[in-house]
Amino acid sequence: MAKLQVELVTAEGRVLSQEADFVVAPGLAGDLGVLPRHIPLLTPLRTGELMVRNDGHEELLFVAGGFIEILPDKVTILADAAERAEHIDEARAEEARKRAQELLTQDATNAEAAASLERAIFRMRVADVRRRRRERPQGPPSGQ
Ligand code: ATP
Repeated sequence: MAKLQVELVTAEGRVLSQEADFVVAPGLAGDLGVLPRHIPLLTPLRTGELMVRNDGHEELLFVAGGFIEILPDKVTILADAAERAEHIDEARAEEARKRAQELLTQDATNAEAAASLERAIFRMRVADVRRRRRERPQGPPSGQ
């Protein structure tokens, strides 16, 4: 069966490089589901969750902005920031969330604080999904 080669990189280095059957990325206009043989596409990403599925195993990652380039056999993501769930420091994200919320209380139009709050919330969500998956017995992904 055809596969996708997925590369996720930031200015700091390579976060993920693997084969996949299916990828869901947070496109600006909504979630982008990518299967092998997708038409070529280059589009911006928003902050959110990246799902990479291979042979029934799903990995959820955090990505903040950047671009996704889709080719029939390859997906390349250049993100402003990205972390695998196990590399997310939840205490740091919680601190960032509190800081951003405090700034937004002082000035609700602070766009930088709003973006920071969004990053913190998605980081906490990705880390939380990973914890819940580890707590329950392994089974096939839902819908299969
Ligand atoms: P903070 O205020 O805690 O720095 P931030 O949202 O401003 O958070 P970013 O600008 O998105 O941070 O990222 C800066 C660098 O720090 C990136 O390399 C990113 O991967 C890393 N990073 C930020 N927050 C976390 C976190 N909670 N866990 C792991 N790495 C993080």
